[in-house]
Amino acid sequence: MQGQQQQRPRENRAVRALDNDLGEAVGELYVARYFPASSKQQVSELVENLRATYAQRIGKLTWMSAATKKVALEKLAAFHPKLGYPDKWRDWTGVTISPDNYYGNLLAATQFDYNYDIAKVGKPTDRLEWGMTPQTVNAYYNPTDNTINFPAAILQPPFFDAKADDATNYGGIGAVIGHEASHGYDDEGSQFDAQGNNVNWWSKDDRTKFEARTAKLVAQFNAYEPLPGKHVNGQLTLGENIADLGGINVAYDALQIALKKNPAEATEKIDGYTEDQRFFLNFARIWRGSTLPKRQEVLLNTDPHAPAQFRAIGAPSNMPAFADAFKCKAGDAMVRDAEHQVNIW
Ligand SMILES: [Zn+2]
Repeated sequence: MQGQQQQRPRENRAVRALDNDLGEAVGELYVARYFPASSKQQVSELVENLRATYAQRIGKLTWMSAATKKVALEKLAAFHPKLGYPDKWRDWTGVTISPDNYYGNLLAATQFDYNYDIAKVGKPTDRLEWGMTPQTVNAYYNPTDNTINFPAAILQPPFFDAKADDATNYGGIGAVIGHEASHGYDDEGSQFDAQGNNVNWWSKDDRTKFEARTAKLVAQFNAYEPLPGKHVNGQLTLGENIADLGGINVAYDALQIALKKNPAEATEKIDGYTEDQRFFLNFARIWRGSTLPKRQEVLLNTDPHAPAQFRAIGAPSNMPAFADAFKCKAGDAMVRDAEHQVNIW
């Protein structure tokens, strides 16, 4: 149904099964081998720079009232970032795995997981629990506990490299951190407060102005056509597109602050590229990938993320800083005119 011609190799399926059923146990080994404490420290500083920059941007918004801004800032201050791996590893006592019984292992792991989940009923929410394993190249925001989560495997190149320049890291993991924080303020996340409760903290007027801006973003993505005659669904992908746009804007601002502290890097070209160019180039680089047309068709109808090639160009097309960095002129493909340019967070 999704265009795949043959089953994945056995070793891929074996790793996938382990990842699904005993993922955090694998994660403990992965972290010990690939995730130094220094990376956690560096990324933690990046998160706090982004948070401070985000607060400045919210303060300066022209469309939001002072009362709503106050709550938005409280929510930002309450974001709990989780980096790399859980503070406390899961205890696997009680699950029995044997080297010669795949079906039995599958059953044992599924049962163990089911009991683990059932045991949570009636207990307080554990905000320190992770919804992704450390070896997953992904990140998420959870509106019901107001946490942003970055597994160890996304804290690697091209997203983050301890040896790379600031522009490269802010264009990569910086934009991802900004993206996850923005989910707290997208069309869905904005319906939850700092404690993760589903309450309305917006004035009616602010909500109306927010929706006028998001409508422009819906129209922008509706126009993208990844397959002949098949368009992106701007409404389905709205939350992710709001997050991409907010994320890259806040990361760009945070980079300017970082460069002020390190002026030598601000003027230095690397491989012939300026710092702004390196920022946008790495933002594009993190979206590299390929998808079979049939699978693409399924995803257009089901995935709240737009196809990667449009995520690479969608947000920068709304940024004057992008046009400046590459000396684009009015009318160029990635320059949206003032009327269509979207700026939300
Ligand atoms: Zn997202």
